[in-house]
Amino acid sequence: MGKICIGVDIGGTSIKMGLVDTNGAIQHKWEIETNKAEHGKFIVQEVWSSIENELNNRGVEHASLLGIGIGAPGFIDSKNAYVFEAVNIGWKNVDLGTQFQEISNLPTYLENDANVAVLGENWQGAGNNADNVIAITLGTGVGGGIIANGEIIDGANGTAGEIGHMTIDPNGLPCNCGRKGCLETIASATGFAKQGLEMAIQDPAGMLAAHYQKTGHITAKDIFDFAADGDQGSMKIIDRTTDLLGLTIANLATVLNPSKVLIGGGVSKAGNQLVEPIREAFQSYALTRTAAACEMKVAQLGNDAGLIGAAYLVLQHEENNNKQK
Ligand SMILES: [Zn+2]
Repeated sequence: MGKICIGVDIGGTSIKMGLVDTNGAIQHKWEIETNKAEHGKFIVQEVWSSIENELNNRGVEHASLLGIGIGAPGFIDSKNAYVFEAVNIGWKNVDLGTQFQEISNLPTYLENDANVAVLGENWQGAGNNADNVIAITLGTGVGGGIIANGEIIDGANGTAGEIGHMTIDPNGLPCNCGRKGCLETIASATGFAKQGLEMAIQDPAGMLAAHYQKTGHITAKDIFDFAADGDQGSMKIIDRTTDLLGLTIANLATVLNPSKVLIGGGVSKAGNQLVEPIREAFQSYALTRTAAACEMKVAQLGNDAGLIGAAYLVLQHEENNNKQK
């Protein structure tokens, strides 16, 4: 085994970890539960013991380790590896980088979890190392990340690239962020489900209404399945949502002029049924020259993107350090 980067992807329910080589291949991966007790104060200790344990088991020497890259949820100051706030873990003003560095004696780098997923996807997935990338994750919420001139963008205080919280409908549904009508309230799996419920009421003869009566719930997948079977209500939801996504991406693309737009998350499992109409809407709204430079693709790495991107943080810093030497 050559040099190894340790990737850590911290989530609200589990923490994924992996030993990743310098070519981006995962040599070994595992996960532990996120211990949120006492505002997450045991997490650093538990993560490091778990890593040490795996390193010992596999006979990996400390000398072969390049560093630790961490993706964590919430608002992050990546320069200082500092967490301003991660609500679903209970962290507030945590110097995560310093703590990891002290316990591991390894260089430690930190980024927002959505951003590390974008870095991973761009390195080993659908991005093909593009310099200008917009990534949107349509999951329970809507996540996003922007790479400009090869660097992930954090902004002044860690909120850059929060594409899910772009206001799409000022009179829309309430969002988790406390505002109304964010993209997330419409285009997330939850947003699709809400639209499905509304449609079941509006269109009592449709498949969504029948399905809701039978099962008591509607998922994003149901909507795509019924649309494929010709259900008008489901088609309307997909038309509206993909049109809004295409419009949003076209506006973002006017700012960034990306060569890649990557669409991931659970909803992206719908594949072309989702991406084709987004692409059409995008092309109709974007400047012709902007659209001509831009390829839209479905993300490929799934849950491993965060882990691989966290490892990439280590490599990227190593390269930058070497350049400065
Ligand atoms: Zn919001």
